[in-house]
Amino acid sequence: MKIYLSLTLCLTLFLLACSPGQQMSVESSKKSNYLISNISVIPINTNHLLKNQTVWIKDNKIQYIGNGQDLKTAGRPQKIDGSGQYLMPGLSDMHVHLPGERTDRFLHLNLLNGITNIRSMRGDASHLKLRKDIESGLLLGPKIICSAPPIHAKMDLNEMQIDSLFTNYKKEGYDLLKILSIKDLATFQSLQAASKKHQLPIGGHTPLNVGIKNLLAEDAYSIEHLGGYLAALKDSEAFLDKMIEQTVRSKTYNCPTLDWYNLWQFSTEALQERQGLEFVPELIPKWEEKRQKYKAATTPEERQQDRLDTRERISKKSMILKKLHEKGAMILVSPDATGTYQVPGFCVLEELKLYRDAGISNFDILKMATWNAAQYCGKEKQFGSVETGKEADLIILDKNPLENIENLAAVNAVFVQGQLLPREQILSLLKKKTPTK
Ligand SMILES: [Zn+2]
Repeated sequence: MKIYLSLTLCLTLFLLACSPGQQMSVESSKKSNYLISNISVIPINTNHLLKNQTVWIKDNKIQYIGNGQDLKTAGRPQKIDGSGQYLMPGLSDMHVHLPGERTDRFLHLNLLNGITNIRSMRGDASHLKLRKDIESGLLLGPKIICSAPPIHAKMDLNEMQIDSLFTNYKKEGYDLLKILSIKDLATFQSLQAASKKHQLPIGGHTPLNVGIKNLLAEDAYSIEHLGGYLAALKDSEAFLDKMIEQTVRSKTYNCPTLDWYNLWQFSTEALQERQGLEFVPELIPKWEEKRQKYKAATTPEERQQDRLDTRERISKKSMILKKLHEKGAMILVSPDATGTYQVPGFCVLEELKLYRDAGISNFDILKMATWNAAQYCGKEKQFGSVETGKEADLIILDKNPLENIENLAAVNAVFVQGQLLPREQILSLLKKKTPTK
């Protein structure tokens, strides 16, 4: 879908976003040149709220942050009064599965929730094309970090094949190689060697035939779902602690994806309370069908046991997450929105609420959702904090997420691809009927 927005429409949509109770106002409307005044900045590179700041954004870059007295702007920036509002970096969802259809809706739901980076964890050539369309401005959406088509246990690869796989994926522009499962430990080690040679990182599950110890010994770059640590805990708490220490040493990232697992303990009634369901009406009957199938195949006692198992698993994973974080391991954020009643974009906050419940501070959670993603990508100089010279992928919130992480739901506007998208504008994009592919 190509976005053609006239200046008048832009202005109308922006004014629509500024209801009388809100503080933003427009004095002029010019793309990629914005002057925000009186806003509180959550810079992320430091745990301080910077009050009454003036922020100048031009050409998709943060040009200035300060009290405004020494500021000389160029051009005619669009003026925004940010009184009572908060500016912070856009969020990164680091484990998404792009849908085969209604991709526009998926991207816009992410923007609506302040997400300006997504990592596609089952990538293919169509995702590279999508990334290109977004970068060239044909589509509005978050930036895409893209994994290559995943490796699985049925693939019997020799070293030469692995080498040419990496050569091709690197050339095609993939950012990492995902492992779902693997034939054996030797194949995993060959993949690791090729990963180092070609400078294309590996990420994915902890295959049972590799195990967390071997995975960390090979400097795995990012691990999904915490499954290997859960297995380590089964062995002993001391072994888990050792694996956590190794994680820190090897600078391995972990993406917990707690929300996906947590869902299993809830009734349909509880799930229907989740946010964002109005955007995906056709998915609800499909989700219900899945749940009914599960109900038909199990006894009430089995379902009760499943609920108890889920609670236990979540409590153990929450403990592991907290330990990893306290010891200094890097955490990436994602709900892995593929389960029933998981609405893309919206369930990122569900995931973050679980990190809070695990005992992590709001500032540290915000850092995981922004700064850590930039570090992971090796682009810490480009994004992940509000600092002069960085890309202006930012969000404006009506409430302070440092006080309550749930205030991340109050996204008022998103800066992406050099333009300001007020909430109403994103909502109007979502209302547009997009053809299903
Ligand atoms: Zn996944």
